[in-house]
Amino acid sequence: MSELGAVVLIVEDEPQMRKFIRASLMSHGYRVIEADRAAQAVMMLTSHNPESLLLDLGLPDGDGIELTKQLREWSQVPIVVLSARGREDDKVAALDAGADDYLTKPFGVNELLARMRVALRHGQNRDGGSAPQVLEFGELKIDVVRREVSREKERLHLTPIEYKLLLLFAQNAGKVLTHRQILKEVWGPAYATQTHYVRVHMAELRKKIEADPSRPKLLVTEPGVGYRLRDRS
Ligand code: CA
Repeated sequence: MSELGAVVLIVEDEPQMRKFIRASLMSHGYRVIEADRAAQAVMMLTSHNPESLLLDLGLPDGDGIELTKQLREWSQVPIVVLSARGREDDKVAALDAGADDYLTKPFGVNELLARMRVALRHGQNRDGGSAPQVLEFGELKIDVVRREVSREKERLHLTPIEYKLLLLFAQNAGKVLTHRQILKEVWGPAYATQTHYVRVHMAELRKKIEADPSRPKLLVTEPGVGYRLRDRS
């Protein structure tokens, strides 16, 4: 399935913002449905079954973070939250609640489209389909069957933790992962607050996979939120 024609539900109470998003998505071949309240969003999600959700965090009848938690009890629809500038805590809370990604207002059309592409691709992966056995990110190659990683054809020697970290990012390419999510997946739920583990091991991993670890091009930092492996697109 291509992204074209995908139905996106916009949940946003500001008419100007809704209009901008609608026009941007429709001019790129998406179909758009809209809600301006949390309650309406839930109804439209069940009645229209959209392929992706763009969710404003500040809604008149509720909070987008709570809504994300609620939706995640029964829906795996990709959720991209729209947050106000400087509200890093909100973004982290939304991601931890199960959102897939975020956009910080104001954002441009290209950023919106890039986030939508990643979200839709993750939605499709969730729906099944066989995962590739070799993941490639520029010069970096991960053979998930042999558990081998190479860069520019040279074999890299990763520790088990570094490999787990890299694989987690590779399987979530393009998507931001919070410190809490990384800790839960790689070390286990009991370690969810040990953020220094992430910093230390990310630094080691970057030394091995980045051409210039002080200017990472693959594993980029999302300030105040977490990290993201740059997608191929
Ligand atoms: Ca709002």
